[in-house]
Amino acid sequence: MRLQPPALAPVTTFVGLGANLGDARSQVLGAIAQLEMLPDTRLVAQSGLFRSAPIDAGGDDFINAVAQLETRLPAEELLLALQAIEHDFGRQRPYPNAPRTLDLDLLLYGNQTIASATLQVPHPRMTERAFVLIPLLQIDPLIQIPGRGAAHRFAPAVAGQRIQRI
Ligand code: AMP
Repeated sequence: MRLQPPALAPVTTFVGLGANLGDARSQVLGAIAQLEMLPDTRLVAQSGLFRSAPIDAGGDDFINAVAQLETRLPAEELLLALQAIEHDFGRQRPYPNAPRTLDLDLLLYGNQTIASATLQVPHPRMTERAFVLIPLLQIDPLIQIPGRGAAHRFAPAVAGQRIQRI
């Protein structure tokens, strides 16, 4: 008889969502519904929806949100699952920073720091972007970012970026 490998302990993880092409609002909400259906994964919380000015990207304003998950998927597997959801929503990369039907970023994976060829966690630019920080802090105002301290410390520096709750 073969024994199953022991299941990984569940990890709390945060995913950033953004869209500025097509029906951005319904794509973000549809992606959250897909996150909820990932194997070995539970949707714990979701922020409200926000409208933000594009940063390092072309096109219209973005619709953004952050989702908190609890998952037993390894980080690299979760990243592949996020990329599959982006693909399902018609994500194309015609040129760098093109408008996008859906962008999913793995922001935090437990208290882990990951630096592989395909995955950097904490997401390297998350503390510079109001459209990540504000929804993240709405879910957990005291969230800590491994290696960087409390996320709220970075909020004053992004206060000039246009973002509004919708
Ligand atoms: P983008 O085109 O903005 O969706 O970036 C996707 C690329 O970023 C992929 O090649 C990923 O392997 C890489 N990447 C590195 N770290 C992360 C992360 N934390 N979340 C999402 N993508 C990441």
